[in-house]
Order: sequence, then C-alpha cells, then structure tokens
Amino acid sequence: MNSGSSALAAKPVTSLKGVGPALATKLEKLGISSVGQLLFHLPNRYLDRTRIQAIGSLQPASSAVVEAEVRVCDVVYGRRRTLVCKIQDHSGILTLRFFHFTAAQKQRLVPGAQIRCFGELRRGATSLEMVHPEYELVDQNSPKPLAQYLTPNYPATEGLTQPRLRVLIEQALEQLEQQPIAELLPAQITQALGQIPLAQALQLLHKPPVGTDLQAITEGTHPYQQRLIFEELLAHQLSMLMFRNRAKQARAQPLGNGGELAQKFQQSLPFSFTKAQRRVVEELNSDLAQSEPMLRLVQGDVGSGKTVVAAMAALCAVASGQQAAVMAPTEILAEQHYANFSQWLGPLGVTVAYLSGRQKTAARREALQLAASGAAQVVIGTHALFQENVQFNQLALAIIDEQHRFGVHQRLALSSKAPDGLTPHQLIMTATPIPRTLAMSAYADLDCSVIDELPPGRTPIATVVIADTRRDEVIERVNRACSEGRQAYWVCTLIEESEAMEAQAAEATCELLQSLLPSLKIALVHGRMKAAEKDAVMQAFKAGDTDLLVATTVIEVGVDVPNASLMIIENPERLGLSQLHQLRGRVGRGAAASHCVLLYGSPLSNHSKERLRVMRESSDGFYIAEQDLELRGPGEVLGTRQTGEMQFRIAQLTRDSYLLPDVRKAAEYMLAHHHAKAQAVLARWLSGREKYLGA
Ligand code: ADP
Ligand code: MG
Repeated sequence: MNSGSSALAAKPVTSLKGVGPALATKLEKLGISSVGQLLFHLPNRYLDRTRIQAIGSLQPASSAVVEAEVRVCDVVYGRRRTLVCKIQDHSGILTLRFFHFTAAQKQRLVPGAQIRCFGELRRGATSLEMVHPEYELVDQNSPKPLAQYLTPNYPATEGLTQPRLRVLIEQALEQLEQQPIAELLPAQITQALGQIPLAQALQLLHKPPVGTDLQAITEGTHPYQQRLIFEELLAHQLSMLMFRNRAKQARAQPLGNGGELAQKFQQSLPFSFTKAQRRVVEELNSDLAQSEPMLRLVQGDVGSGKTVVAAMAALCAVASGQQAAVMAPTEILAEQHYANFSQWLGPLGVTVAYLSGRQKTAARREALQLAASGAAQVVIGTHALFQENVQFNQLALAIIDEQHRFGVHQRLALSSKAPDGLTPHQLIMTATPIPRTLAMSAYADLDCSVIDELPPGRTPIATVVIADTRRDEVIERVNRACSEGRQAYWVCTLIEESEAMEAQAAEATCELLQSLLPSLKIALVHGRMKAAEKDAVMQAFKAGDTDLLVATTVIEVGVDVPNASLMIIENPERLGLSQLHQLRGRVGRGAAASHCVLLYGSPLSNHSKERLRVMRESSDGFYIAEQDLELRGPGEVLGTRQTGEMQFRIAQLTRDSYLLPDVRKAAEYMLAHHHAKAQAVLARWLSGREKYLGA
C-alpha cells in the first residue's frame, strides 16, 4: 500500500496521548484501532458554538450559545426542587433549569450578572428553556473567545464521551497535517468530484470553520462530504465486485438447456410463458452453459411467474445428469415449492425430495439419503439445506427464493456442497422488487434479470383504505362476498415480532368474526401451528371448503388460491409497503375482480396516510418499492438483516443513491486499471468490516 496512508493506518491508537488499553478497547467497539481509522470516524452532526444567538431567534430542538443578563434566579419547590433562572437579552427571555445545583451556584447567578450558556432548547410553559446548560459568567472587560469551529458530535459508545473523542481526533488531525494521506482515487475521478484533496475534506468535516454551510452539511450535499461519501460508496462497491470476481474465478459445471425434458415440461403446463419469462429463461440458459458459476438475481413482481422459470433452470441441471437445490425462507413456502415441483416434474420422471428442519427423523434420513446418492435430482427445503450433514452427489445449481431473507453468508455455505472443487451456479429469486439504485449497491455482486410482465388475464386488484371505525361495513362486505361463493382472507398484523402474540390476536379475531358471521365457515392459520395443521387448513381453503381464512402474515409468501378475491388487512399502517404488496398479491390470482381493504387504526398520521395512498394508487411492485425506499429507507425494502450488514460511516443509501451510477463506473474503472489502489480504498473504509462479504 502507498506509504502516505499506511503510516497513519498502521499507527495504533495507543500511540496517541492518553490512550491506554482500557480506552483502546472502547475504541475497538467503534471499529477503531488505528489513527487512520480514527480519522474516518466522522461526525454524525454538529453543534454551533461559533456565534452568540439572539434569544428571540432560537428554535426548539436546536442548540445554541446565548449571552444574556440574569433577571431572576429562584429555587422552586415543585415535584422536584429546581433552580430556575430567567435570563434576558435585547430580544427575549430564556429559562434555565437546574435539578442538581449547589448553594454556591445559586449565589453566583445573581440578578444583573452576565451569563453565557450553551445547551439544547426545548419548549417550556412560558418560554424556551435549557435544562442543565453549560454556562459561565462573563466578565465584560475580558470577554471569552467563541469557538472557531463547529463542534463535532461523533457516534460514541458507553464510557467514551464526546470531549474525549474530540481530543483524540484532534490529535489524529495534527498528525494528518504532518503526513499527508494518500489520494487513492485516480485523477479522472477526483476531477469529477471537484478535486478536493482528501486530507482537506477530513479536516473540514471534523472541524468545520466558522461560516461553513451547515445547512448543506446537514443535508449531506456539501462538496467535502460528497468527496468522502463517494469514496465510501466506492469502497463498498469495490468489495462487492471483488467478491464477485473471486466467485467467478471458481469453476462450475456447464449445463445444457434442458433439451427435451424442458420442452415436455412446457407442453405439460396449461399456459404458455410470457415474453418476459422466455427472455429470462434464455438469460439463465446462457449463464448456465458457462464453466464459470452463474450469479444471477431474478426479480419479478408477485404473480409474475418466477417459480416456473426456476423449474426450467432446475431442468437444465437434471437433463445434464446433475442436481439442483431449491431453498425457501419459510416452511410454508418450501412446502409449496415442493408440491409444485413434484406435481410438475414427477410425471416427467424426475425425483424431487423435501428436506426440512421439522421433519420426522425417518423422513429426514430418507431425504438426506436421496440427496447424497443423487437419486433425487431436485432437493427442496428451507435453510435446513445449509446444514453440514446435508450432502449432494452432483449439486450444480442452487436456487434461492426470496433471497433478501438470507444473509450473504448463507448463500456461500451452499457453495461448498458441489463436488470436485466445483461451485454450484446460483439463481436468486426475489419477490420484493428492489429499486434499481438499491439493487446496484446491495446486489452489486449479482447479474440481474427482471420478469417485468404479468401473465395475461389477471384483473387488477382494487384497493380501498377504510378506517376501523367502519369495521361493521367491512364485515358485512366479507359476508356478502362469501355468500356469493367467493373466498376471503382476513389478515391480522401486530407491531411486535412475536409469533405468540400475533397468533393470539388472530385467534381472538377469528372467534369474533365467527360470532358475527355464524353462517360462514371460518378457519385460522398462524405461525404457531404445526406444519401439518397449517397444511390441512390451507388445503381446505384451497379446496373451497372454507369461506374465510383468518391469518397472520404467514400467508405473505406462498399460497395460491385463485378463488380468493377479497382480502382485509387490519392495521396495514404497521407493515412496510413492499410487505403489504406481497400480502395483497395473494388475491387477484383468478379471473374474478379482486379487492383489498386496508382497514387502518384511526387516527392515522399524515405519513401513514401518504404510504397507504401509494398502496391504493399503485399495483406496480417496483414503484411501491421505490416509494418504500423514499418513505422508510433501505431497511424496509431489503430487510433489516442485510441493511444491518451495510453500515456506512458517512453515506446514506437513500440520500446518496443518486451517486451510485457514477460510483459503479468508477469501481469498474479502478478494478481494471488501478487494482492496488482499489485494494487500498477497501482497506481504508472497510478494514474490520469486510468480513460480511466473505473476503
Ligand atoms: P411468483 O412470481 O409470485 O412466485 P408464481 O410463480 O407463484 O409467481 O406464479 C403465480 C401463478 O401464475 C402460478 O399459479 C403459476 O402457475 C401461474 N403462472 C406462471 N406463469 C404463467 C403464465 N405464463 N401464464 C399464466 N399463468 C402463469
Ligand atoms: Mg414465488
């Protein structure tokens, strides 16, 4: 690595004044072990102590320096003994409040004294207040200077205070002045970024001088920030691409296009593929024919028909004498895949095995045996497939459904299951459409195919948004629909991620509905039920024996019941839009016009209203995901697990995603022409963090 940066990067924090082993351990918690890393520990906000503000201009929930005269100062005996001090400048009066104070303190805050204080403002009964401000008395003859820089506030950890961090970073910045940090970005790239030297950007962001555009910094648009944001996004992008390149260096079994078997399969289906499905099948076939492993993400809206496309890929493996594994995130979905694949492929002479964590020992042993001997050409299961004791004879293709619920690690675990140092091809399917910009960062290691067309003959789902004060009308509506021979879902949602509580709520709702609608056959399904019970309930619903299915969000993925054309979702405001879209996708699978009622708890915040409006107005999963991203951030769209892995120091995906196309180009350019520097960028931003990519 270039000497300039490695000098600071290699210098341990313990080389700084005042850093012993105890403090080093605390810094370690923040991912900081070198002086270089300290420099890249960037403030999350700033306090302005560079100017005195007029009391009349202050806003609650901000902080400010105020200089004023003490008017009164009294101990007030309320619920708590409090020292209340009113100070006044030319523009207004401010209240200072102290719950802990000494007699000496009170004595010095006499009326007429000049005081300078700094603190956070909040709304009080009669005026703005500061609770426990920092303050000092001012001697008018020798006024104290104000801060020359905005005061940074850093992400901290227990036992590591802001003043402490500031002092340490101050030391690091002094060292930065002595030894310039390496500029790792090639000139073409820095040119586009306004040619701001990295060291200068760091200095400015740790110590913004008086007059810095704080508004721009708050919005993340300051050019010095952009310089660093770009480099951080670049580091992430590089790590994904390097990961991909490494994966591509592995060898995989080239597969044919499924030949006669695939043809027979298509002929056996009661429909023909959409143009989009045919295109994606082509894309998969051409990847699978290579001896480098396929790494492809197939996105498609709910109901776009991803499963048959996956089956086509599986047949490529089968026809070449190899095995395919299909992995689903939940038991219900795995079971459904198993049912579909067996029904489709069984008649063609293909053996499909099922492996789950909940299986009886004998069934499991048999499935393990079928997988290991190669007798089962397709093996379907949950994450149980990842386990060490699961062996394959000739695993050439891993199909992973709903991948946002699997971590990257889990995907890698399957790679070790192919024979002879070969790596299986990987096909990842996601039912949650992912906005392009997000896909570009979260899935930069994958090629992407999109099934952007729904099979013909689907009638769009009409969505209405109704307050729960009109629950009676909604129940009557369910009654009518079911009396006319249609079927309905009633979905209960809870804030808590507790299956037990969700199950309870669903049980209560089910009883209530049954008492109000005695003529209907109502059944209940929730996550706490045994797989066999759930299965029986679902089968009965599918067979039309049940009119109304009360369910928790377990039905989100899976079940396909074309006759169900009405869905009520209680408290939809608690769910992410993409999740609502998934749920809603359970209706509208048949020819009848379908309806979805979003039965919200009133009153609804404006924000929630806005979100539900999106659901009412659109049925386009990609658009909805974009809105979700905008309204709730990437965690909502990708699932928290993955975003948890994507911790940024300064970048924010939602805010900065407009940079990603250029970041992507820069990453590809650096990998091609400046590999060593690319490596150094990675080390600078991700050292200690690249583990999650399996690097
Ligand atoms: P998803 O993309 O949500 O996983 P599925 O694969 O479950 O969608 O397909 C939804 C339904 O549409 C299934 O019943 C499937 O058999 C059916 N289907 C798939 N492709 C077509 C098509 N080209 N024409 C008509 N129906 C189709
Ligand atoms: Mg699906």
